[in-house]
Order: sequence, then C-alpha cells, then structure tokens
Amino acid sequence: MNPSPHPHFAIAIDGPAASGKSTLARHLAQRLGLVMVNSGAMYRAITWKTLQQGIDPLDSPAIIALLDRLDIQCGSDGTMSTLTIDGIDPGDELRSEAVNANVSAVSAIPEVRKVLIDLQRGYLTHSSIVMEGRDIGSVVFPDTPYKIYVDAAEHVRAARRGNDGEVDSIAQRDAADSQRKTAPLIVADGATILDNSDHTIESGVEAAIEILRSQGLPV
Ligand code: C5P
Repeated sequence: MNPSPHPHFAIAIDGPAASGKSTLARHLAQRLGLVMVNSGAMYRAITWKTLQQGIDPLDSPAIIALLDRLDIQCGSDGTMSTLTIDGIDPGDELRSEAVNANVSAVSAIPEVRKVLIDLQRGYLTHSSIVMEGRDIGSVVFPDTPYKIYVDAAEHVRAARRGNDGEVDSIAQRDAADSQRKTAPLIVADGATILDNSDHTIESGVEAAIEILRSQGLPV
C-alpha cells in the first residue's frame, strides 16, 4: 500500500466573480475548523506587484522575469490564508480598481499559474483546507472528492459587487477567466453546483454541508 504523505484534505470551491464563494468558503471553514485559502488573493498579489513595478500586465515575458525575482510567502493565521510579497502584505490594495481590471490578464499566463499552484498545493502539508478560486476542483486538487461550484444570477452578483463598494467589471473578468486556454473557469468533474442567488450566509453553509455530506465528507 502507498500511504498518503499527509492526512489532510481539500474542499474545492470554484465559481465566477461575486458569486459569494469567498463568504461561503470562510464560513464553511469556520464551521468545519479548517483553514480558508483565498487563491484569488495570490493572483491579485502578482498583479499588484506587476503594476507597482510599472510593468504592462500584457507583457508576459516581463511578468515571467518578475516572477523569478519575487519572494512570495503564503501561510495561515490558523483560520485564514495570509500572504506577503517581498515582505509586504498588500492588504486592501489587492481589491483596487487597477488590480480588478488587470488580474485576469496576469492570471492567464501559464508560468504565473504554475508558481501559484505549487504554493496552493503546499497548504495541504500543514492543514486541511477550504480553498476558493476558479480552477481548484479542476486543476489544483482534481482528485479531491469534495467539490462545489458556486453560482448566482448575474444581477445578484452585480448587486453584491456594488454593495462591496468596488469598481469591478465582473462580466468582463468572467468572460476572460472562462475563455482562457490554461485552467479556465469550468464546472470541474465531480463538482456539485450550488445556486447561491437566494441563500443567506447560514442557509448557504447548510446547503454546502449537505453537498459535502453527499460527496462522502463525514460531517
Ligand atoms: O476570486 P477573485 O475574484 O479574487 O479572483 C481574482 C482573479 O484571479 C480572477 O478573476 C481570476 O482571473 C484569477 N484567479 C484564477 N484562478 C484562481 C483564483 C483566481 O485565475 N484559482
């Protein structure tokens, strides 16, 4: 028998922008005592650094060269993922209008994805996790049995983002994320779709737990 290198597991939560997946992932992780990992923050951090360095977000070779020089540290505070890039936590700057407008271009670069996917998989060495993103069930942890695709009606998603006070063209971002060649946003094999249009936080968590139970998680 080939024993597993560690006893940890991943719950994959994917879905389009402003579908409520971060909130769901955070509450689900709290409820199950797991670490919530926000993979979007990692793509945002590279985008933030790219812009900060005055690099054109469409200049893939320059971004690939930048990647080689970066010190990206991913960790957790015990409940949530943490991140520094060259020793700095960019905080709210990760959600700026400029980052929102350019993150899809930067995250479409295969070399960027490779670096971040290795860091994402590394979390399992330390803990079981709820990781949210676009390709968690399809690419990062394709073998996990626990996969949820969170969706919500477009007007609900647009209203949510407006309430967050962010300037973010979510339709454009979703189109770019779904149409890119590498790791596009898809419903992963084995994922169950959770329509989050009419859920409260509590009822969404209950619906997610029900799905995970049906996928074999002993909860
Ligand atoms: O989840 P969030 O909206 O913060 O993600 C920001 C962007 O990062 C997405 O629009 C997408 O371009 C990219 N992303 C990705 N793969 C992930 C998570 C995020 O490509 N797993």
